[in-house]
Amino acid sequence: MNGTDEAAVARNEIVQVARSLFDRGLATGSSGNLSVKLGDGTMLVTPTNASLGRLDPERISHLAADGALLEGDAPSKEAFLHRAIYAARPQARGIVHLHATYSAAVSCMDGLDADSCLPPLTAYFVMKIGALPLIPYHRPGDEALTSTIERLAPDHDAMLLANHGPIVSGPTLRAATDAIEELEETAKLFLLLRGSDTRPLNEDQIAELARAFAQSAAARHRNGSCT
Ligand SMILES: [Zn+2]
Repeated sequence: MNGTDEAAVARNEIVQVARSLFDRGLATGSSGNLSVKLGDGTMLVTPTNASLGRLDPERISHLAADGALLEGDAPSKEAFLHRAIYAARPQARGIVHLHATYSAAVSCMDGLDADSCLPPLTAYFVMKIGALPLIPYHRPGDEALTSTIERLAPDHDAMLLANHGPIVSGPTLRAATDAIEELEETAKLFLLLRGSDTRPLNEDQIAELARAFAQSAAARHRNGSCT
């Protein structure tokens, strides 16, 4: 696939994934942003103030590796988060950021473990997300977030921005989308279970997942590698 075809496929995939997220209420208004890193190191990212339900593939922002706009509309104010993650995780090729309700609700809670702010309630959360760090609150667009992202992203596909929402990367846009949906469902379970005695997976069960699914988030976090 040449670069033009690759970009055309990625534009259409961004439109389809974004519309699906919007149609299922995982993105509302003009919130949320998606990106794909292309083989030449440039990035396609959803434009600022664009509804994920009504994207035009031709108006998606195309940014150079240094963030300069090559074509399309002005990018999301949060495009710098995507650039910081791609710089820290060379294997990442797709990123999804949402203000999804249950994850955003958890991001507003006091007393969370900043290193792992959702418990390992299910095997799929452990395999797709693993440890979920909480990033302290910054106003939208505050580029001071970059240094925290650069520190955490090498070891984490997924991070939760306090009083804001999750951002998740993956080897493809579809993989990042599957993972952020698992995160949102786990946040929903976590909130449903508040006040109930719960039984998260224990260390042995998490270790077994790491052994059985060597490419999973569980294995990456246990081994301390960022592949
Ligand atoms: Zn946001």
